[in-house]
Amino acid sequence: MCRECVHEFCKDRGTTCLETGVYYINLKGCVECSTRGELAKAECKREEDEDGAEEISFEHRCSKCDHVVAKHTYSFSVDDGYQEYSMQCGLCGTGSDSRSVLPDDPHRG
Ligand SMILES: [Zn+2]
Ligand SMILES: [Zn+2]
Ligand SMILES: [Zn+2]
Repeated sequence: MCRECVHEFCKDRGTTCLETGVYYINLKGCVECSTRGELAKAECKREEDEDGAEEISFEHRCSKCDHVVAKHTYSFSVDDGYQEYSMQCGLCGTGSDSRSVLPDDPHRG
């Protein structure tokens, strides 16, 4: 991971969880070749286990010099009737969210 190419490293994004995509506002530019706002299209790696938990990970790389700006991990799991989402990325920040899978959420009355 690299702290030089982003404005705020691992910014707290609250409940925002991006499965894919780039938080361009936080991208300062490539420290290696000073290219700004251009990242190569990432190849997502998707892993799923038998419990239905899913993890998607990819790298944000500079489109010019292939410098790795940040690693992006998004995970999804179902736990106790709740869908849990989380995102971890030096560029996009960190976030987590959970939603009830039931139509009536007991925590919302
Ligand atoms: Zn960098
Ligand atoms: Zn670069
Ligand atoms: Zn990211």
